[in-house]
Order: sequence, then structure tokens, then C-alpha cells
Amino acid sequence: MLQINKITKTYVTGDFKQTALDNVSLNFRESEFVAILGQSGSGKTTFLNVIGGLDQYDNGDLIINGKSTKHFKQSDWDAYRNNSVGFIFQSYNLIPHLSIIDNVEMGMTLSGVSISEKRKKALDVLEKVGLTKHLHKKPNQLSGGQMQRVAIARALANDPDIILADEPTGALDTETSEQIMQLIKEIAQDKLVVMVTHNPELATAYADRIVRFSDGKVVDDTNPLANQKIKDNYKLKKTSMSFLTALKLSGKNIITKKWRTAITAFASSIGIIGVALVLSLSNGFDKQINSFETGALSNYPITISQNAMSMDAFGPPKENANELTEFTKDKVVYPYDASKNSVTHKNVLTQEYMDYLDKIDSSWLDGVSYSRSVKMNLLKLSDGKATPLNTAAAGFSIYPSKADQSSNSYLEQYYDLLAGNFPTNKTDLVLVVDKYNQLEKNSLEALGFDGNSENIDFNNFIGHEFKMLMNDDYYVKSNNYYIVNGTTTDLSNLYNSEKATTLKISGIIRIKEDISISSLPAGIVYSDKLAEDFIENAKNSKIVLDQKQSDFSVMNGEVFVEESSTASNRMGAGGKTGQTKDSALAALGASSIPTGVALYPVNFEAKENITNYLDQWNSGLDEEKQIKYTDMASMITSLSGNIMDAITLVLIAFAAISLVVSMLMIGIIIYVSVLERTKEIGVLRALGARKKDITRVFNAETFIIGTCSGILGIAITYLLTIPVNAVLLNLTDLTNVAQLNPLHAFVLVVVSVILTMIGGLIPAKMAAKKDPVVALRSE
Ligand code: ADP
Ligand code: MG
Repeated sequence: MLQINKITKTYVTGDFKQTALDNVSLNFRESEFVAILGQSGSGKTTFLNVIGGLDQYDNGDLIINGKSTKHFKQSDWDAYRNNSVGFIFQSYNLIPHLSIIDNVEMGMTLSGVSISEKRKKALDVLEKVGLTKHLHKKPNQLSGGQMQRVAIARALANDPDIILADEPTGALDTETSEQIMQLIKEIAQDKLVVMVTHNPELATAYADRIVRFSDGKVVDDTNPLANQKIKDNYKLKKTSMSFLTALKLSGKNIITKKWRTAITAFASSIGIIGVALVLSLSNGFDKQINSFETGALSNYPITISQNAMSMDAFGPPKENANELTEFTKDKVVYPYDASKNSVTHKNVLTQEYMDYLDKIDSSWLDGVSYSRSVKMNLLKLSDGKATPLNTAAAGFSIYPSKADQSSNSYLEQYYDLLAGNFPTNKTDLVLVVDKYNQLEKNSLEALGFDGNSENIDFNNFIGHEFKMLMNDDYYVKSNNYYIVNGTTTDLSNLYNSEKATTLKISGIIRIKEDISISSLPAGIVYSDKLAEDFIENAKNSKIVLDQKQSDFSVMNGEVFVEESSTASNRMGAGGKTGQTKDSALAALGASSIPTGVALYPVNFEAKENITNYLDQWNSGLDEEKQIKYTDMASMITSLSGNIMDAITLVLIAFAAISLVVSMLMIGIIIYVSVLERTKEIGVLRALGARKKDITRVFNAETFIIGTCSGILGIAITYLLTIPVNAVLLNLTDLTNVAQLNPLHAFVLVVVSVILTMIGGLIPAKMAAKKDPVVALRSE
């Protein structure tokens, strides 16, 4: 059944050649008990390894059931060992971290036998060797004889045709040896058993046939078999280990080394912890910034004013941009055309555009406010005298409100009421103070309060009144010019006139603490409705109608300057800047078009909708006809976001270094594990495991360690966020800054697994390359 035909095997170590098998020819019967005797070094083990397919012969042929093995590939030999051969070793070679039953099942596990069948066969053979009581013990809990019985059961389990035993009783006492020999003899009744022994008595007592080896040659054979031609009827079932089996195998190995694994996993999780902490912090800061944005910055409006600053202002002049360098060493001055490099964009607001703005979805807005150049005719009363109120000096501005003017949602949402009430009608004014309840001295004086006093009680402001007069009541025409209708030192007649509208300060407000940035300047804020009413009336006032007809000022006869010259005169020497006709008319209230609009979005999403809406107007328009807006909040945010991103990147880079270090460490740990498990590798190979399977076993080990360290790292990070947040709360008043995003956590575990597997790849490959014969010889 097994024919060995002129086989030679030579080992080469350096220059030294050792012929272990020298032209050996032997034929074996289907069932017989062959004992091989010979001196140490005569080639007995080599012979067993060659016929067992563990080692490959150099020349000759090995024929199994008529099939020549000359052209066997590695995978054929693997399958051959698994299907056809069972090995029994002197030192048992059981896998120490697997139970008895798992050891016996291993060969069948490798060839993919179903769990139930495997269990049944394993129990059968264990019963045959008399070990049914010890199924779940580990090998080191058994005696030598028992261990050898397990090894025999393992060799028999897959029901091979050939059993190869290398000095199976070499480590046993006489009595146990005899029991084992008896067992092997029984096996030999329906199998070919080839046993190497150094004990001639046992050989003669139990074996059917004795073959003597000397110097790699067969020198004696008590029952030779003639060579005969056998028909090839050999079939191989290829083996393959599933990743699950590899996981189970490595899992059991890892469990026996719990502490080392735990420490390794912990050490390599430090990199993960680093990255996870950085991510959770940056994630938290991002969230903080977002909530700051939606809190503090969302009350910051999108503004459209006559002169919109364009960001190009910060770059070099466009036309020369490519040729000029910053901080050049050139000793020349470069002229450039400022108009081509428009620093500011002139927005020409038209009624059409205002109508377009009115159609904006009001649900996106907390409110809209306007800047107007109209000078309403306001009077204040101080020291019993009525005088004009300089609204510019007093810091008058229009507060944001909804288009329907129905609610004070904006003021109430972002401002605390310190005294009085929020405005309820258009004649109600509101005093805005800064965070420290301050108001500028000049503003106070302009309002008629004592700017030099140490402090002024809120009560002095609440209910304080001013008067507003329409143009026709305020101005009278005298000698072709319009003058204020009264003596310049006292306008009590106007102040007390029935026609005067009474305005009063209804409340004092201050920005809310958690918002902290006020979009309204300190001073008086009033309703746009008041301005609109004034303008509505002013449009048809005599002074406006007259002014429209006239090319000089109807108030002082001054000649107007051209529109364009005001721009260049703005910083002109001498201070005498002229007025244009348009600006004179606007000041008198002739125009209902504001000079600026501020849109207050409800949130960041709404802001996006608003800017899209504004962009829509511009699409297709010439550059100079476009209306540009300024979004200060987004400039701030994108800046802060970029800085955060940069910091995060740097920190992650540092943490990544520790990840790489832990990867190297895993490599070393796995390498040590490979060294430790060399014997196991040999056993697995002897049982028919392919190189691939060995790689798989170690990949499974790194997979387990990587998963453990990833999960451990994430768990530790979650725990660490508690003290980190406590410290940050103490330092910065920010709550819950460190927050690990679950997605990041998951990705990090995956990264940990991948990195450790990469780290273990080389040692795993090394393990697979190990020669099974050498591996089995190792101690
Ligand atoms: P036995 O089992 O009869 O004691 P072996 O088959 O183990 O003998 O060895 C036969 C000869 O081959 C010995 O001289 C041994 O030194 C040599 N040999 C065995 N294995 C190797 C090897 N892997 N490398 C080099 N020489 C070896
Ligand atoms: Mg030997």
C-alpha cells in the first residue's frame, strides 16, 4: 500500500553534507506493525518524516495506494498529512492551551469536519484509548502515559491509513510502555503502523516486522514485501482552516496568557487613547464653537451698506498680483490703479431691491433693521430749556424688528430688560447700555443728562420724554431760506406744541450674559416705524418739495457738490466738505430707501438661506450693479474653525506616532509569541495545516489583541473624559468639552485592529515559513 522506492535525503549544513537516507527502498502492507530499529543518527526519524510528508525526499519516489508523490505540491502534502497519516511523537506534542478533546479534534477541524461528526469521532477514539473521563482537562493535568494516549487518539481521529510513531514509549516507564504498545498493536490490526524504537525487546514482543537502519540504509528486514504494481486509487481531501477556527485557537492561547495580553493591549491602546482624546476634545470644542456661533454670533446680522468691504482688499492689487512679491527688496515704487482694485464696493440700494428684501421668507429672520440718513426733528428738555437733540451724538439707531412689527422677538431674545418695558409702540425708545451698564458721556449729554455725574439712577431714564416735529411744523420759510421755527436758545414753543409727537424711553436693556456680543451699540434704539412715519410725512413737506426744485441748499444757500467729488473729498484738507443734493434730501426725509440694511438670521441654517437669497439677486448682474453683503460672523467662524482644525491636526499627528510605536510593539509581541508557539506550529503542520493556516492563526491573535486594545482604549478614553471635563470646567467654565463621537470610537477600533494586524503580519509570515520538521524538533 505504501511503496518507498530508492529514496535519498541529504541535509546540507554549510559545507557539510549529511546523507540521512541513502537509497532506501521498502514496501509496506495495508495493515502491519513495523518496528524500525537502529542506532541514533541512522536516519529513522528522517525516514518517518519523509513517509509522513513532513519532510520531502530528494530522489526516488514515494507511492501511496499506487499514486506517485513525485509531483505533489505543498497543498497536496498538507492534505496527505491530514488525510492519510497520523503522527505519534516521543514528547507527545499536544497543544498545551487546548483541552484534550480539542487536541484530538484538531486534525478534523483542519479538514473541515462538521462539529457533531468531529465530536462523535473524537469521543470514539478517546474511548478506545480509555480517556473518556478527562475530556476537558488540559494536557499538563495528565500523566505521561495518558498524554501519549491522547496523542494516539489524535493520530487515529481522522481515521488515516498510516500511523507513524517516533519512539512513542521513549519517555515512559516499562509498565506504561507495555500498555501503549498493546494499544498500538490493536491499532495495527487494520492500519499500517510504522514505529521507531530503540527498544529491541518491545519491538520483538509486539511488532509483526522489524526493519533495521544503519547509516541511512536498510540493513535488515524480517518480513519484506516484493515490489508490485498497484492501480492508482488514491484520493485527497484538501484541508482549510476557517478564520473562526484560527480565532478560537488563538483565543484559547491568549486566555492562557491573560496578563501578558492585558498589558500588551493596554500598552498599545495608549496610542488609541491619545488620538481618541484629541478627537473628543476637538469634537467638543467644535460643538462649543458651534453653540457659541448660534448663541453669540447668530445675533450678528448680515449687513448691506452703501460701501461693502470686499475681501480682495487684503490681497495685492489684482492686476499685478502675479508679479509682485510681499516685502520685496526692489528699490522702486509701483503705481497701481485703485479703481481697478476695488477695495470697497459701492452698493446702490434701489426701491426694487428693497422690495426684493421685503419678500424674504420672514421665518428665517429674527428681525431686520435699517440705517437711514434722515434727521428727524427731535427736541430735548433740559434745565427748563428745549433744544434740538443731536441724534448722532446720542447714538440713535433703529432696532431690528419683524416685517410685521408685531413683536420684539429680537430684543427679547438677546437682551435683558434692566428697567421699564420693552417697546410696545413706535414712540417708545429703548436705552441700550453696555455690559458694564456704561453709556458714553457725550451720548448722555446729548440726551440731556449730566455726563459728569458718577452714576445716574435707572428711574431718571424710564419715562423720560423727547418731542418730535414734522418738517412743516419745525421749519418756517423766512427770506427764501428755511429756518427752525423758534429762537435758537429755546424751542419751548415747539416742544409744547400740540403738533409735537411725544417719544419716551420705555426701558433699559443690556445684552444677555450668555450672548456677550451686542450687535446694537450703546445709546437709544427706536422703531423703524417711527422713521417711516416721519419720512412718509416729510416726502410731501414744503421744505422737501422746495429742495427738490433747488440746486442749492434751501436752508443756507450753499451750493451742492457733485456726487463723485464727495468720495475723493472725504479726507480732503481744510475740512470743508460739501453736501450733495441727494444727501441733503435724504437728511430731510425725502427718500424712503435706507442707506443700509441689517438682516438678523434666526440660526445658521437660516443664514445660509438668506445669503443664498441675496446671491440670487446678483446672479447675472454686472459687477458694479451687484449688491454685496458682509457676513462678519462667518468670517470669525471660519477663522476660528481653521485654527481648531490646525491644532487638532498637529495633536493627532503626535498621537499617531504613539500608534505607530504600539504597532511596532505588537510586532515584537507577536514575534515572541511565534517563538513560543514554534512547537505548536510544527504540530499543526503535522496535522495538515497549510502555511496559510499558520498565518491565519497569528493574524487571529493580532486581531484579538488589536480589538482588545482598541476597545480598551475607547473605554479608557470615555472614562478619561470625565476628569478632563472636570478640569476644563474648572479652567474655562465650559461644560462637557471632551465628547467622543461614537463614529470616531468605532473607526479607532477598526484602525487599532488594522494597525496591529499590520504589526503582526511579518511575524505571522515568519511563523508560516517555519519548516515543520525543525519546528517539531524545537523545545
Ligand atoms: P535518528 O532518528 O535515527 O536518530 P535522524 O533521522 O534524526 O536519526 O538523523 C539522521 C542524520 O541526519 C543525523 O546524522 C542527523 O544529524 C541528520 N539530520 C537530521 N535532521 C537534520 C537537519 N534538519 N539538518 C541537518 N542534519 C540533520
Ligand atoms: Mg530520531
